[in-house]
Amino acid sequence: MKPKVFITRKIPAEALEKIKEVCEVSIWNNEDVPVPRDVLEKEVVEVDALYSMLTDAVDEQLMEKAKNLKVVSNMAVGFNNIDLKVATKRGIKVTNTPGVLSETTADLTFTLMLATSRRLLEASDFLRQGEWKTWSPMLLTGQDVYGATLGIIGMGRIGEAVARRAKGFDMNILYHNRSRKPGTEEELGAQYTDMETLLKESDFICIMTPYTPETHGLIGEKELQLMKKTAILINTARGGIVNEDALYKALKNEDIYAAGLDVFENEPIPTDHQLLKLPNLVALPHIGSASIKTRTTMANLAVENMLQALNGKVPPNLVNTDVM
Ligand code: NAP
Repeated sequence: MKPKVFITRKIPAEALEKIKEVCEVSIWNNEDVPVPRDVLEKEVVEVDALYSMLTDAVDEQLMEKAKNLKVVSNMAVGFNNIDLKVATKRGIKVTNTPGVLSETTADLTFTLMLATSRRLLEASDFLRQGEWKTWSPMLLTGQDVYGATLGIIGMGRIGEAVARRAKGFDMNILYHNRSRKPGTEEELGAQYTDMETLLKESDFICIMTPYTPETHGLIGEKELQLMKKTAILINTARGGIVNEDALYKALKNEDIYAAGLDVFENEPIPTDHQLLKLPNLVALPHIGSASIKTRTTMANLAVENMLQALNGKVPPNLVNTDVM
């Protein structure tokens, strides 16, 4: 009998075909809305594998219903949507898709650095709205990226990919992790600092940590107050790492210069949200890894992880290694 799989969103055809060859597949074939909770709860009852997205809460209540579940294959590097402790307790393997999206996400992080510092969206609106009357020395002037100091909070796979780009812009690179990375310091010329020094000295602060209880609200009022008035905050990690009320106040009062966000505490962010009324915020709909090539690679890697786990093997990207 073929193993049963539920896929929680439309995925690239080539990935879907690979699953269909060996599994009985049910799918929430909709790109616009996540699978409703009641549908998800019904679908998992008999499945051996769940192919999930970062928008699906794979919690105790759901896993309790999924008595046959052997693997949750998340099509993302982040896995904060899954209760790992419960999965491990129930013998369920959890996998993610690390590495293959680092460069694409670093590209978007750099896009946000450039867009915020050079006021890209403001300038584009200015032109389209017919306000462009003449060239003027100080018109729409912003901050330089070239030669500035970049502070990376979370120097992991994506953080390093951002730092490599920053080298090409002759940036001075600071970083903060819970543990130092001497190899990275040597290779990229990055300097380890405590959090306070990084916040005080950086022109750009990029958040690249996972979302965990420890990083929840990592950037709040106190941290924003430590930043330079000209500092730019970029968050392409997870929304809950930055306190949005504190960020709103800091941007509104011009305590910092600008922010670029790809992620929000609640997604999708409501269009009437106070943050979206600010000219010094560039906001994107969680598209960090959204290139055709990378999303296809992620989808295929999630398939490989899932099929290996279903075959009783150790999948290449097992997150809860203690489950073995
Ligand atoms: P990674 O390789 O695991 O790197 C994470 C880094 O954060 C590690 O170097 C880790 O070092 C550091 N870190 C963890 N907890 C920390 C803390 N409390 N304080 C300071 N540093 C801490 O992960 P990655 O592949 O680079 O991905 C990072 C995150 O980006 C993912 O978890 C995901 O949520 C997000 N992401 C978003 C998008 C998007 O679409 N916007 C795309 C891809 C990924 P230590 O352990 O030494 O502290």
